[in-house]
Amino acid sequence: MTRRELLSLGASAAGAYVMAPAIHLLGPDPYDVVILNGRVMDPESKTDRVLNVGIRNGRIATLTKREIKGRTVIDALGQVVAPGFIDPISHGQDLENDFLQARDGVTSKLQMEAGVPDVAAWYEANAYKRMLNYGAGTSHVQARIRALGDDVKAETKEATDAQIYQMAEFIDRGLKAGGLGVGFGLEYQPAAGRWEVLEMFRVAGRYRVSCHVHTRYGTLLEEQSNLTAIEEVFSAAMAAGAALHVVHVPSMALGNTPKALKLIESFQARGFDVTCDVYPYTAFGTGIASEVFAEGWQEKFGITYSDLEWAKTHERLTEETFAKYREEGGFVIAHAIPAEAVRAAVASKATMIGSDGGMKDGVGHPRSTGTFARVLGYYVREQKVLSLMAALEKCSLRAAKRFEKVCPDFKRKGRIKIGADADIVTFSAEKVIDKATFDKPAMPSEGIYNVLVNGRAVVLEGELQQDARPGKGLRRPVTKS
Ligand SMILES: [Zn+2]
Repeated sequence: MTRRELLSLGASAAGAYVMAPAIHLLGPDPYDVVILNGRVMDPESKTDRVLNVGIRNGRIATLTKREIKGRTVIDALGQVVAPGFIDPISHGQDLENDFLQARDGVTSKLQMEAGVPDVAAWYEANAYKRMLNYGAGTSHVQARIRALGDDVKAETKEATDAQIYQMAEFIDRGLKAGGLGVGFGLEYQPAAGRWEVLEMFRVAGRYRVSCHVHTRYGTLLEEQSNLTAIEEVFSAAMAAGAALHVVHVPSMALGNTPKALKLIESFQARGFDVTCDVYPYTAFGTGIASEVFAEGWQEKFGITYSDLEWAKTHERLTEETFAKYREEGGFVIAHAIPAEAVRAAVASKATMIGSDGGMKDGVGHPRSTGTFARVLGYYVREQKVLSLMAALEKCSLRAAKRFEKVCPDFKRKGRIKIGADADIVTFSAEKVIDKATFDKPAMPSEGIYNVLVNGRAVVLEGELQQDARPGKGLRRPVTKS
């Protein structure tokens, strides 16, 4: 924390003290913020009725039919009032991405797949600087880079027992510092062996946290199919007593997505703590120089050069340009996920919604900007793949339940109920839609009118509140060693 932040904190604390007697004299009204006349939809209680919402001190203080007054009044007539969306896989942990995701209804975003290199330093660096709530896990990718010496070795070299021990120590430090879980990118580090993965899961098991895994194989061919890859980490989770979260299932399982979902649904039906997420797009994007595009990628994914789109210029690739860009490195979009696979995953009982997004200077995948509005507008309203209430559960409550076991703050998120954090989105069920495309990935979603984070508006009547920084860190209790 800087000196300036410390001073401004002191100022607001003094302000609150002066305000206290006035609030007392006025009785319970007015609230800090009221949201009036909206259709309140709560995925936990399944409440679906017109109610007024009164917010005080960052939390929902009343839900009522009676008239209430507030210092800030939001009229949500004709709009749905729902829990703010929780993104369990967000790589864009900065203001550029907060601004875009706020307009997509997101109020909390978690860097769980890649994790962060230094959990304690990361939470410190973000404090008081963020529009949206933020959280992160520790990182097997980073542990491996440190133990093996550099990025290339981390991708290609097997680790010794001593190096695996170092990695486990690294994971342990990140969890002691309050990391929400452990992230893995096994496809990008094919040299990480089964035993190494199991040893990392054992650390997660000691803290009962979830392992968020980009699985080993994102391919259609047996021996190395995505089903094999899911079985590997399921087995590790069972052996270690850790929870498992499989990230972006359709972009890994491709045409086998319905089978992969069936497998995960079976784990859940037998009571195992396994969850997964989906982003609602038929293309994935990644670094062209990475292991993903090693020899044989056409057969593995069932695509060819012209299914690849160079993100910077939107040109479709040829054998020549592929070779050139693979040499240079950069972001490529692979149109490889069947539409049926995405529909199945959005509809599945097993999934929650996660963007896997991360925009850099306006360049990236449209999922960074439009994931949640796309689920509500395209998949709920237009395609009728699932009900609005079911979608809201996948956009908020599911992620809250994933993390509340290890971070009690999440018990107050993903719900519209008295005592819950006032992380709230209001939108038109008739108008909400994503606008971001592969050509214009930074076009904000439409039909989302108000977004509150800890009771403070970050989007108000459709306008982004550029200076609002109400985001708070979501972190497990820090343990002393
Ligand atoms: Zn991934």
